[in-house]
Amino acid sequence: MHGKVWLVGAGPGDPELLTLKAVKALAQADIVMIDDLVNPAVLEHSPQARVIPVGKRGGCRSTPQDFIHRLMLRYARQGKCVVRLKGGDPCIFGRGSEEADWLGEHGIQVEMVNGITAGLAGATQCGIPLTLRGVARGVTLVTAHTQDDSSLNWQALAQGGTTLVVYMGVAKLPEIRESLLAGGMRADMPVAMIENASLPQQRECRSTLAGMQQAAADFQLKSPAILVIGEVAAEQAQALLAVSA
Ligand code: SAH
Repeated sequence: MHGKVWLVGAGPGDPELLTLKAVKALAQADIVMIDDLVNPAVLEHSPQARVIPVGKRGGCRSTPQDFIHRLMLRYARQGKCVVRLKGGDPCIFGRGSEEADWLGEHGIQVEMVNGITAGLAGATQCGIPLTLRGVARGVTLVTAHTQDDSSLNWQALAQGGTTLVVYMGVAKLPEIRESLLAGGMRADMPVAMIENASLPQQRECRSTLAGMQQAAADFQLKSPAILVIGEVAAEQAQALLAVSA
């Protein structure tokens, strides 16, 4: 009998932002494979499980993706219930669908559990309504980091009129700034940079498109952080702040 793999989003960091489904999956797990950006506090829901860290953050010691695949497969074939715990949402810059497809091709039953993605959580925790009515008619999630170095259409992003939420952008601030300025975004467009969103050590730095590189340097902005670029990044809605208090 084959086991099952749950691909579970652990949310942005605050353990209270886990979904009830994630908690249920953790409570059933024999094995929990946990990424770096997941707050280990969520493991309180799986005291019975064996925990295997499989983090692979850029620049740090990494676990190759095919090793993670094979490990999930091995345990599932032993009939185990495997929870693969990922930061935020498994399918937002998280390779969730690749892992699900690969496991499916190998005959393993997979279930995906959404998590709250860091970009949405970070904005809300700082009082930024990403789609504020009359101000932003949409939000675009982008990553500044690509494996094949393929380039985004920054001009379209600069002129699209949606709020931009940039993941994995800390090391690419100069390029992001240059590309958006060159693409025609105004120099004083508000920017918010949010580090460790939803965690007690959360910090936020507000600036403008032109000033963001210097502001981040002065602030010593570190990963993990998201950037919110757009008119709404100047907002600090008290009602939203109250929700997170
Ligand atoms: N699947 C994740 C994203 C993984 S990519 C999600 O849905 O949130 C990793 C990037 O996510 C980081 O480089 C950073 O940009 C962002 N990130 C993850 N956790 C974060 C946090 N607590 N605060 C700010 N940014 C975070």
